[in-house]
Amino acid sequence: METTPKRLEQFYEGKAKKLYATSDPDLIIQYFKDDATAFNAKKRGTIEDKGVMNNRMSELFFTMLEQAGVKTHFVRRLNDREMLCKRLDIVPVETVVRNIVAGSLAKRLGREEGETLKTPFVEYYYKSDPLDDPLIYPEHAVAFGWATDAELAQIHESALRVDELLSRFLNERGVLLVDFKLEFGRHKGEILLGDEICPDTCRFWDKATRQKLDKDRFRRDLGGVEEAYHEMLRRVEG
Ligand code: UDP
Repeated sequence: METTPKRLEQFYEGKAKKLYATSDPDLIIQYFKDDATAFNAKKRGTIEDKGVMNNRMSELFFTMLEQAGVKTHFVRRLNDREMLCKRLDIVPVETVVRNIVAGSLAKRLGREEGETLKTPFVEYYYKSDPLDDPLIYPEHAVAFGWATDAELAQIHESALRVDELLSRFLNERGVLLVDFKLEFGRHKGEILLGDEICPDTCRFWDKATRQKLDKDRFRRDLGGVEEAYHEMLRRVEG
């Protein structure tokens, strides 16, 4: 049994997670909260046991991706709400992959939500609360020094690979992967997939009914929020 490094001071608190340093400078602990926000924190609430469900679901997704050769920050889940991860120097860019039209894409281009795209694609958003995470070109990230060309090429390739693997995994469990957001960072000179993969950061629709099984239930006041997270966890656990 590997020894677990000691949890030290909290160095970051975000909308859904807290990050703690550990006695090993290369490792951190992600603590998953129940707090939910939407529309750049203009809407706030809590989703009971969300942290527990997102921690477990992220563990299952990261494990599956690692087994398929995707490099992630995941080390292991420690308990209900804590995950041990490699420390990342986060690239301040959110990487979104889309398979079906929804959310901001539907609005921006005046398309019907639910239209299947002819091919998946990757979008980048600059991580900035005051600017509401604006859509950017990859060239912006290079020009402002947020990532190098080589790093962006790796991020692009990894994002599409994650899409392929997650879509297949979920399809076998009766779930459509509509779109999702990833974050990447550097660890010892390597680009790793970080953050979490869960109904807060992905759109999941039931394949048969197209019922939403993700945070849109909270964003759009659709009810059955906790039930949707439980249902997703049940399906991912198989
Ligand atoms: N997303 C996220 N964090 C953000 C913005 C988006 O996790 O700050 C996820 C969102 O859950 C969805 C995908 O990225 O799965 C695409 O989101 P979109 O651009 O449609 O924005 P939204 O409609 O969520 O504002």
